[in-house]
Amino acid sequence: MQGKASEWVVKTEKGDITCEHVICATGNYARQTAKMVGFDFLAIPVEHQYIVTDVDPVLLRYREAGNPELPILRESDAQYYLREERMGWILGPYEKGALARFSDGVDAGFEKDLCPDDFERLMPHVEATMVRVPSFEGAGIKDIVNGPISYTPDGNLMVGPAFGLKNFWLSEGHSFGVTAAGVAVGGMDRRGRASRVWICWGLIHDDLAWAASIMWCRKMRKLTLTCALIIFR
Ligand SMILES: Cc1cc2nc3c(=O)[nH]c(=O)nc-3n(C[C@H](O)[C@H](O)[C@H](O)COP(=O)(O)OP(=O)(O)OC[C@H]3O[C@@H](n4cnc5c(N)ncnc54)[C@H](O)[C@@H]3O)c2cc1C
Repeated sequence: MQGKASEWVVKTEKGDITCEHVICATGNYARQTAKMVGFDFLAIPVEHQYIVTDVDPVLLRYREAGNPELPILRESDAQYYLREERMGWILGPYEKGALARFSDGVDAGFEKDLCPDDFERLMPHVEATMVRVPSFEGAGIKDIVNGPISYTPDGNLMVGPAFGLKNFWLSEGHSFGVTAAGVAVGGMDRRGRASRVWICWGLIHDDLAWAASIMWCRKMRKLTLTCALIIFR
């Protein structure tokens, strides 16, 4: 909520915080928090799954022979990455048909909860991995994790000033992961550098210039999100 013309008062369970600038960095809650200040934000949580396997005997033998950890394998055609995890594997795909969630706001109490897994949706990626890394088949699945990640309609993050709201900044739609979000959101070192530089000096950080597209493609994004919401409903 906004107080005097040049300051914001953020209400929290532990009391009010008065400040000049607010950076809204709320992940899956982006649409809800934006609504608190009357801003129509364009992002939606989309399910993302990954698989954790048991020990792969072939990988175990390879590592026990003194070989170094394997680099992360990324197979673009089959849209997944694969990396070592405790002598087994983590397979993280970019799935077709992943479901959008919470179009009317994140369910109460969900917080960092998970969604039910959907193995069928993972199958094309599992099969592709077994072709590329045959020993993957012998590892056995230990766990499947399925959680929502905030996506904008075009997949780019949204970082920068919110239209019509003085000193209110967005750092949302971080579907690229914790490092990208950290650089943009906040903190004392590398994390948050982008927003700090922009707020203090009015400069868009090089790494974000291409993505800071709140300004130039807002109308296009709004149209796309509206279409996406209609389809998912
Ligand atoms: C299953 C799964 C696997 C993933 N794997 C990886 C991976 O291997 N590597 C990787 O880099 N990334 C991974 N990610 C993605 C990564 O988690 C996100 O990209 C990243 O967390 C986004 O950061 P964020 O700061 O934008 O949002 P978040 O990390 O979600 O942080 C937002 C915070 O805002 C808080 N908040 C919301 N509303 C309010 C409010 N009204 N008041 C106060 N606080 C509020 C939330 O509680 C939350 O703590 C994965 C995500 C999922 C779901």
